[in-house]
Amino acid sequence: MGLPTGQTVPAPKETRMTTPINLAETLTREQTLELEANRLHERLAVVGWSMLECELIAPLTAEINALKRRLNAVVLAHSYQTPDVIYGIADHVGDSLGLSTEAAHTDAEVIVFCGVRFMAETAKILSPGKRVLLPAPDAGCSLADSITAEEVRELKRQHPGVPVVCYVNTSAEVKAECDACCTSANTLAVIEAMPGDELIFVPDKLMAANMQPHTKKRLITWDGSCIVHEDFGEAEFRAFKEQYPQAALLAHTECMPSVVEMADMAGSTSGMERFIAAHDEIKQYLLVTECGMTDKLKVAFPDRDFVGSCVLCPYMKKVELRNVLQAMTAPRPKQEITLSEDVIKGARRALDKMLEIGRSERVK
Ligand code: SF4
Repeated sequence: MGLPTGQTVPAPKETRMTTPINLAETLTREQTLELEANRLHERLAVVGWSMLECELIAPLTAEINALKRRLNAVVLAHSYQTPDVIYGIADHVGDSLGLSTEAAHTDAEVIVFCGVRFMAETAKILSPGKRVLLPAPDAGCSLADSITAEEVRELKRQHPGVPVVCYVNTSAEVKAECDACCTSANTLAVIEAMPGDELIFVPDKLMAANMQPHTKKRLITWDGSCIVHEDFGEAEFRAFKEQYPQAALLAHTECMPSVVEMADMAGSTSGMERFIAAHDEIKQYLLVTECGMTDKLKVAFPDRDFVGSCVLCPYMKKVELRNVLQAMTAPRPKQEITLSEDVIKGARRALDKMLEIGRSERVK
């Protein structure tokens, strides 16, 4: 079951979904909000949102969409965001690589990043002249927070001359210490593109364990993991597989190797989306990733059945329509991403190396 491959992949077409209602002068505010509530309900009903709930958030989404036009702002949302953010206000939705690419190409003067801190930092590194706002300034990530720049320098002292690759889930300071960055969509391609037969790979020990069987290079790893994906267990999925034998199991490569081993496909969130789009004949899926992804796919593929459990990322869920609106109207200093020129320069080098290598798709 093959998938199309490419060097870089823009956010999937169906995720460019914002069709904000123009606050046309001919419409009253009530009429505008009614149209906005209808637009939201058309998308959100499939994930259980009632018309009343859509009417309640319509004033917020209408105001944010109007502000985007006034500020020349673009809203980027990671696939793990809630459906009101994804379908209410986002211009682009996707994984880290897709959004990094969008961040680099957008003509907007302001980027509002609905995601966690390292993602907004990535947008700033690629667009240093733009204003980058992070509505939830304390939205961290268990992977990114597991390693510091000084710890990377110490690893380099311990393994002189060995190239260093960091997963995109790292701070800008950590990226600046590395030779190349990678995402779950291109991990193996980046590993293989580096010279030598050894590689320091930080910070995800599970992703490194999932890649090790696919490369001859010896991976020197770090003790980081994603609190969402490490939670999924093999026994749980064996039980699901027995209950839903027709379902295809799609797993993120941040999961444990025993889970990835059982999967029909393992890779990035965008890779999962493309897998589903390419397989009309598979009607039932079991996703081993964050809950937001399941909701997004339920809307994108209403004819498919998504079964099983999911885990919420507490960091991603710190973003809400209210803090997006507040950050766009009166940002607090912590909501604006600022990085030193040296960090931007170093991290840019690592990101450019990744963008040059592109996407290699799934490992399985
Ligand atoms: S899902 Fe995991 S990797 Fe992604 S932001 Fe949350 S903790 Fe970090």
